[in-house]
Amino acid sequence: MPLYPRSKHWLLVPLMLGLLFGFGCAAKQTVSVDSVKARGKLLAGVKYDSPPFGYLDTSGQLHGYDIELLRDIGKRVLGSEQAVDFQQVFSSTRVIALNSGSLDVVAATMTITPERAKVVDFSDPYFVAHQAVMVPEGSPIQTLQDLNGKTILFVLGTTSEATIKKRLPQARYTGFKTSTDAFSALKAKRGDALTTDDAILYGFMGQHCGFRLLKETLSEEPYGLAFRQIKGQAPPNSLKNAVNRALADMKNDGTLTRLSTKWISPEQAKKSCKP
Ligand code: GLU
Repeated sequence: MPLYPRSKHWLLVPLMLGLLFGFGCAAKQTVSVDSVKARGKLLAGVKYDSPPFGYLDTSGQLHGYDIELLRDIGKRVLGSEQAVDFQQVFSSTRVIALNSGSLDVVAATMTITPERAKVVDFSDPYFVAHQAVMVPEGSPIQTLQDLNGKTILFVLGTTSEATIKKRLPQARYTGFKTSTDAFSALKAKRGDALTTDDAILYGFMGQHCGFRLLKETLSEEPYGLAFRQIKGQAPPNSLKNAVNRALADMKNDGTLTRLSTKWISPEQAKKSCKP
């Protein structure tokens, strides 16, 4: 007696397993506003190391643009800004954390790119940064070309890493898990320059005097909130659609402009920095 009958019916087995596990998982991936409300908390991945978007102050409190953005979304979508539960993510692991199911959303200085859009769903853009390069004030480096043969510090898993390595293949590179670590290395003269988004670099310049940005920027970096990918069209009650409606309202009522003005200011950075 053969292990499987020679009837074509057993060919249906993979289909049944697919229905049970594969399609079942896809359905589970759809995070709806109702499921978040039922849980009572929106699980949000944010940076703890990237001023002015997400950072801890000296007493361990979390602040920043992405934090305030999510609290406002919590108010608009879930009825309370207390409904957001923040968890730390890193550039190199934020997609894995999201897709593992432990987060509903990531709001972590994350650029919308076609590559990333293959593995996560993005909201509409809420902020546009630019990749820039920071050097110590007294550095002789003035242009990107001056960086050939020099050591450039970057954050692992970022668009900045990919773009600068393509642009300056002759430079030397050192990667860090967080932008705070990369900035500490620049302060300690373990590299000649640090590259990441200009808005993040302004955050560091607001904390420490003695640094400047090169005039040239490398790219436009539109930030989006990321969600687990939904196959096909997102249902109207999906978290992503609700967040997009909230972002549109925040754009129209001036909230997004207010957040940018409050958190991102190169002029303010110069005034508030400490030597
Ligand atoms: N916005 C860039 C990116 O998404 C760099 C900063 C970051 O990773 O947070 O890769």
